[in-house]
Amino acid sequence: MRQDDGGESEEIPRGIMDEIRRREQISEDMRINGRSRVADKMKVAAESKAEISGEMALMFTNALCTPDNDSLCILCGVELAEGIPEDYIPISDPEKMKSLVLVDKFPAPYQCCRKLTTIDRDLSMKIFFGKCGHVYCGRCVNNIVRNSKQGQRNNKNKRRKINYDKVSIASLDFDDPDICAPSKCVAGDCNRAFRGNYYFRELYR
Ligand SMILES: [Zn+2]
Ligand SMILES: [Zn+2]
Repeated sequence: MRQDDGGESEEIPRGIMDEIRRREQISEDMRINGRSRVADKMKVAAESKAEISGEMALMFTNALCTPDNDSLCILCGVELAEGIPEDYIPISDPEKMKSLVLVDKFPAPYQCCRKLTTIDRDLSMKIFFGKCGHVYCGRCVNNIVRNSKQGQRNNKNKRRKINYDKVSIASLDFDDPDICAPSKCVAGDCNRAFRGNYYFRELYR
């Protein structure tokens, strides 16, 4: 149909032209409404799919991010999400150090580190989990990732194995990458190598 104002449109009486336009508008509206109804239906379906049952919700946790959580980084023993306390005092008592490492089984207790900075404290509040599923604080992951990259560059990715039963714990340097940046997961008997660029993922609050 021609809609220009010239010749031909004058041949169609104005009332009829308006009626045609009105009907066109109605069918256009119906088409749009129909589409948005389909979109609404899809949205509702997607929402109901995304909803999880109470039973399933029990399988997830927000507990790591609540103040009364007592989950600890398995490498340094820091309270996850809480991070290194501001008023922490480095431990130098050999017996206490020994107990943290041998009894509590934290290979690199943060209380034994001598070089903690405010950046370390900020990092320690972050939470990461590895592909093996074990959870570490951000400071430990930062140490692990940084040292593994350096190790790759220097072609030295092997860590010296420390026999904690044979060494004097108090004489260890806990800022040494051999201790604070292991190349394998330290959880129980996991031992999985921290390989690949994205081994760790951050857990956001
Ligand atoms: Zn840690
Ligand atoms: Zn692991």
